[in-house]
Amino acid sequence: MTYRPKVVGVDKAGSNDKDGLYEFVVHLEDGTMCRVFYNRFPEWKLTNVSRLLKTPCPICRKDYICNCFDKFKGELDAQLQDGKIEQVLA
Ligand SMILES: [Zn+2]
Repeated sequence: MTYRPKVVGVDKAGSNDKDGLYEFVVHLEDGTMCRVFYNRFPEWKLTNVSRLLKTPCPICRKDYICNCFDKFKGELDAQLQDGKIEQVLA
């Protein structure tokens, strides 16, 4: 079965408005949480993603650091930029 993350919630975790840097905590449908970093200049770009170590990785099942979510940067970015960032910053 292919894993596909589904974003169900986003919290703003920090920002530097002047430099356009933002940090969000993303909640996925399966209970996984990820920290994602964005640079909004010149346009919103996801620069880094790391899984919070609260639950084992849904992909490799490790409960420590892994890089599995690197593969899903594009997928997470697409879902976040589909209105979710706007919502959390509104
Ligand atoms: Zn993993």
